[in-house]
Amino acid sequence: MACFDTAFHHDKPPVAARLPLPRAFHEQGIRRYGFHGLSYEYIARRLREIDPVLAAGRVIAAHLGNGASLCAMRDSKSIDTTMGFTALDGLMMGTRCGAIDPGVVLHLQTQLGMSAADVEDLLYRKSGLLGVSGISSDMRTLSDNSGPEAEEAIELFCWRVAREAGGLIASLGGLDAFVFTAGIGENHADVRRRICERLAWSGLRIDESANRGSALRISVPNSPVAVLVIPTDEERMIALHTLKVVREDRS
Ligand code: AMP
Repeated sequence: MACFDTAFHHDKPPVAARLPLPRAFHEQGIRRYGFHGLSYEYIARRLREIDPVLAAGRVIAAHLGNGASLCAMRDSKSIDTTMGFTALDGLMMGTRCGAIDPGVVLHLQTQLGMSAADVEDLLYRKSGLLGVSGISSDMRTLSDNSGPEAEEAIELFCWRVAREAGGLIASLGGLDAFVFTAGIGENHADVRRRICERLAWSGLRIDESANRGSALRISVPNSPVAVLVIPTDEERMIALHTLKVVREDRS
């Protein structure tokens, strides 16, 4: 039994799948797939149970853990996401850089003489929160550190989430709900507050005491955009897919 973490994004609009490269590359599969699909599928399902009206609207889900991405959903379906051909694209992560100017990669190889393996190691395992702070890839460790490098890494992480969310709000044509999930999204009130403050222009208004308590709904009652904290469960999603196949096999 195999569950692809890309499957949830499969039917997004063609424009969100295409990279601006010559057509032949698209034909051979070099396109934007998107990841964290099992997590987003679970969040879409939970949101339908919690608030079907919101689930039918324009939603951004933010999976913020060691790996991090955003997914724009309309009527519970993915229409855009920040990860692309690989899980390296989009947001800054624990040790991954996220989106960077591809010219940097060329510079590292042609001017600094780094091998492809060294560049891969740098971008996947030495960048992100770890690379910027020089301390740790772990958000909790950085929050407990009073040094300016830790603060700079946390601020950059939040800035990039807000910046990418702005792009997804354009893809959605507006926003009705924003959902935080995964290790940082579910637990880190200060990161949630910083992101919501940066997105206040789009209508996110949070109740700081609800946010501190990681309540299910952390927005104020009259917030134009609902803000929720929903724990993800990718394992349950895999189990549900497996059960479906097993049942179909029996019938
Ligand atoms: P994940 O990959 O979903 O397990 O998330 C890992 C990230 O979540 C790490 O950066 C952790 O520091 C962060 N995290 C996990 N638990 C907490 C917590 N209670 N408070 C703040 N951050 C947390």
